[in-house]
Amino acid sequence: MTTYNAPVEDMLFLFNHLKDNKNYNEIEKFKEISPDLVKDILDQAAKINQEIVHPLAKIGDESPCIYENGIVRSPPGYKEAYTKFINDGWTSLSCDPKYGGQGMPKTVSTFFEEMLSSASLSFKLYSELSIGAYNCILHHADEKIKNLFLPKIVEGKWSGTMCLTESQCGTDLGLIKTKAVNQNDGSFLLTGQKIFITSGDHDLTENIIHLVLAKIPGGPSGTKGISLFLVPKFNVNDNGSIGPRNGVNTLSIETKMGIKGSPTCVLNFDNAKGYLIGQENKGLSSMFTMMNLERIIVGIQGLGIAETAYQNSLSYAKERKQGKSNNNKDNKTDEIIKHADIRRSLLGMKSIIEGQRSLAFWLSQQIDVSLNHKEDKIRKNAEELVSLMTPVIKSFFTDMGSEITNEAIQIFGGYGYTKDQGIEQLYRDNRITPIYEGTNSVQAIDLVFRKVLDNNSLSKFISIIKEEVKTNQASNGLEKFSKLLISNLKLLEDFSNLLEQMNKSNKDDVSSACNDFLKVLGYISLAYSWFKISKISYKKLDENKNFYEEKINTAKFYFDKILPRAEMHFNSAKTGSEVIMNAKFN
Ligand SMILES: Cc1cc2nc3c(=O)[nH]c(=O)nc-3n(C[C@H](O)[C@H](O)[C@H](O)COP(=O)(O)OP(=O)(O)OC[C@H]3O[C@@H](n4cnc5c(N)ncnc54)[C@H](O)[C@@H]3O)c2cc1C
Repeated sequence: MTTYNAPVEDMLFLFNHLKDNKNYNEIEKFKEISPDLVKDILDQAAKINQEIVHPLAKIGDESPCIYENGIVRSPPGYKEAYTKFINDGWTSLSCDPKYGGQGMPKTVSTFFEEMLSSASLSFKLYSELSIGAYNCILHHADEKIKNLFLPKIVEGKWSGTMCLTESQCGTDLGLIKTKAVNQNDGSFLLTGQKIFITSGDHDLTENIIHLVLAKIPGGPSGTKGISLFLVPKFNVNDNGSIGPRNGVNTLSIETKMGIKGSPTCVLNFDNAKGYLIGQENKGLSSMFTMMNLERIIVGIQGLGIAETAYQNSLSYAKERKQGKSNNNKDNKTDEIIKHADIRRSLLGMKSIIEGQRSLAFWLSQQIDVSLNHKEDKIRKNAEELVSLMTPVIKSFFTDMGSEITNEAIQIFGGYGYTKDQGIEQLYRDNRITPIYEGTNSVQAIDLVFRKVLDNNSLSKFISIIKEEVKTNQASNGLEKFSKLLISNLKLLEDFSNLLEQMNKSNKDDVSSACNDFLKVLGYISLAYSWFKISKISYKKLDENKNFYEEKINTAKFYFDKILPRAEMHFNSAKTGSEVIMNAKFN
């Protein structure tokens, strides 16, 4: 079985030294969130994730959810753990105090999301969609719905789902068939079938609140005719008590490659009573509130699982003895961590994980600014950066999760491929993350066509990095990193110019370059993160030599060994799409 130790020291390093967004630091209500309070929260979070949640990962994999007589049962121990989880208030961490939440900023709750992903993705998914539903209801529902549903969701007594997918409609939501008929009494009746619904049914909460995309007959075709509805599993009385069962039932659950402790359900809506959220036919944009935050959280899932894979690989590499390293003096067999190639692999994982954690922390500050800053213009500016980076966090982090869990299996050798050590489970559990919440390829297409070609948010992001380099390039140790960052920013600008040219002549050239572009932006964003980490590390070297020296060494590895991948992706994109589109596949 794998072990997990929450990286609290690294998280506190970020919170204490890289909370460098001036606009974030102006948000009044977050000023009182002191480093001591954050340390306290992270220590408590580490405890529950290490001691209670992490053991559930293996249990869920070996004793998956069961569907019997229309009822879904969670794996053994999940219910008890969930009860403690909600009693300790973890579902309410980032929610509005008005509805019983603790009002913590994203800068803090994102660390918790990472820990929970590291500990057990299956267990996490029971509460994750609840937070998505909470956000969607908070931003788009009327006061009556908010007051009726939000306090119970925040408390964790009711959970949430996101019901988009149907058998004929995955990426292309314009194909939705579920219909919603207006009852002219403030409610609608929904009929249709949704598939692949995470936590669509289970036995952990008293009620389940489905957020469902459906079409009102007579509305526009395609995505312009989609509306969003709230459909509870049990109807809710006006006083908040639970009423009779609604017309939504589970037909089956999926047998899956990973996240077996999380039920993935086929839900049948048969004249189920629902309530319109937001405006008619504007459901997709309301659902995007949920989906965009979810996409970032899915990225964090990839980071969290990668962290567990790294930690276990490191421990194994320190114990497993095979062969003799080049510097072997005593002729005894060495631990594999002494081999340069294993060290390369471990450092690759570490440099990506810590760079991503830092980038996620940067983005969390932008999200907090976009939601809470008092000035409209500043909020909008942050919103644009969040929108630019959402597909990057979602796709780059989860693709790297696949790479890192794959590397972990390799470090364990045959013991990684067999089940005993629990390493192959990390690979299987992570494998859904590049698929759900919009596949990674579709994220890359969204990034290029909607956020780069149609918008100038990329140049805003590049300016932020340039400013950082300009201010610090003369600092001790940062000269080489500055040069590399500047030359890679030039590459990024050249790439975005090339996309513009391609877009005028051949759209397939652009489409075939989207994945490469997203990777380039991902690698350069991590270089920006490592630049800032190094800046602090050089300054603080004498305070904690061990910690900061290791940071500087990892930064050097990142700039030397990982960042060059950006150029490789650019070169690949330059070749266009002719060969790709000429293939006959016969
Ligand atoms: C375990 C699990 C949990 C899930 N949870 C939920 C949930 O809670 N709620 C929910 O609504 N859904 C959920 N889903 C569904 C998930 O979001 C979809 O599977 C995903 O969006 C992809 O849709 P699809 O499977 O139909 O693939 P398709 O859309 O058929 O895509 C197939 C392939 O074609 C590519 N592709 C599609 N369109 C394009 C295009 N325009 N250009 C280029 N390439 C394209 C895709 O990238 C992919 O590689 C879940 C799925 C799983 C497996």
